[in-house]
Amino acid sequence: MSNVEEHAREQKAGMKCPQCGAFIETSIFELLTTNALVCPACHLRLSIDRMKSKPAFDALRKVQNAKRNLEQKSKFNG
Ligand SMILES: [Zn+2]
Repeated sequence: MSNVEEHAREQKAGMKCPQCGAFIETSIFELLTTNALVCPACHLRLSIDRMKSKPAFDALRKVQNAKRNLEQKSKFNG
């Protein structure tokens, strides 16, 4: 019974649309790379408040940067 663990590993995130109540599913990666989410049901645009979860974003950005550095290095070496 590790449904919760697997869910956490997928790093899925999301929020309820304040206008129509539909669940807007997104991912941590999307939260990092986009400035706004769009509700799939009513197309309401929600801007993301990065300051509220800044520690989490900082940690994840470091991971993203490390990945990008690795990719660039392998490109230059190749
Ligand atoms: Zn909506």
